[in-house]
Amino acid sequence: MVDLKGQYNFIKDEVDRALEDVFQTTSFINGPTVQEFQTNLEHYMGVKHVIPCANGTDALQIALMGLSLSPGDEVVTPNFTFAATVEVIALLKLKPVLVDVDPKTFMLNVDAVEKAITAKTKVILPVHLFGQCAPMEPLLTLAQKHGIYVLEDNAQALGAVYTFSNGKKAKAGTIGHVGATSFFPSKNLGAFGDGGAIFTNDDALAHSLRGIVNHGMYERYHHDVVGVNSRLDSIQAAILNVKLKYLDFYNEKRKTAALHYNKAFAHSEALITPYREAQCDSHVYHQYTLQIKKGNRDELVQHLADHNIPCGVYYPIPLHQQKAYADPTEEDSSFPNTIQLCKEVISLPMHTELALDQIEFISKQVLCFVNKV
Ligand SMILES: *Cc1c(COP(=O)(O)O)cnc(C)c1O
Repeated sequence: MVDLKGQYNFIKDEVDRALEDVFQTTSFINGPTVQEFQTNLEHYMGVKHVIPCANGTDALQIALMGLSLSPGDEVVTPNFTFAATVEVIALLKLKPVLVDVDPKTFMLNVDAVEKAITAKTKVILPVHLFGQCAPMEPLLTLAQKHGIYVLEDNAQALGAVYTFSNGKKAKAGTIGHVGATSFFPSKNLGAFGDGGAIFTNDDALAHSLRGIVNHGMYERYHHDVVGVNSRLDSIQAAILNVKLKYLDFYNEKRKTAALHYNKAFAHSEALITPYREAQCDSHVYHQYTLQIKKGNRDELVQHLADHNIPCGVYYPIPLHQQKAYADPTEEDSSFPNTIQLCKEVISLPMHTELALDQIEFISKQVLCFVNKV
């Protein structure tokens, strides 16, 4: 699905030099490299505060911890996402309220969010799924109306830009009160291990979050709140500093690959290619996800495997059907779009080293399968 070796070879000299520097200075924790990455990422994102942390799941959890919520407070989030999004809600004894997604964009459905809001709702947690932005403008309007927070899960859309109806632009992850991202190796900006970051323009919240990531300490050995230990280490920061310079270039490569796939599939009625909200959204193609309308998706997965083509199914099971998150009051009929997507989606190899002949080979095999059934 990704070619991490090819990506390393392309920047090997720079990465090796950056690592050598870290080894020589031996500031492995909270060293100058982490500070440098924080500043570089603040510039890139156009956000006042970046708080680096250990991974994307922690980033979501710490962001929620910073909002001073109480047990039982409700967090409205999509049913169609990676489990980490609801995991942190549940861990903090908050209540995940799952809602259905839009069948075209796969993002939070704004009407469904509005219906789900109660007196206990404190947060809307949209996910910028597969590299495209959730409908931030209507979600922010809704949040303002009800006096609740918006926390963006931006693990999959680093570098994507959202355009408001007045023309104002902002990077995904910096639009709500707080945003979280992941530097898992396969993400658009991937470390050589785990990493994550939190974004906010709110000075007080940023101060609070910087303490929470560090055992609730704002002054050495004074623990004001219950915190966690969640740090980005200097080695990962050094690598991310190199790769951040290439993020826009990487995202362009993903877009080019997506256009080639789109072209190959343009005339097939058996497939739906990724929808693009051209007016207000850029798409950074964390995944290139097709919907299979003819033939069985799982048989296509097998067909591709038979031809040594890797693929992914994100996500095969709706969260409300997962044992850990099942809620007897939630019925399948509330989530028709999520349920259909879980049966129909397939993500093809998508990365920065994808060559045209590979895309042609992959698309030929997909078409060969759907044309036969
Ligand atoms: C990857 C991912 C996360 C978690 O990130 P980790 O760094 O692996 O903890 C959270 N949400 C979404 C949507 C993701 O894709």
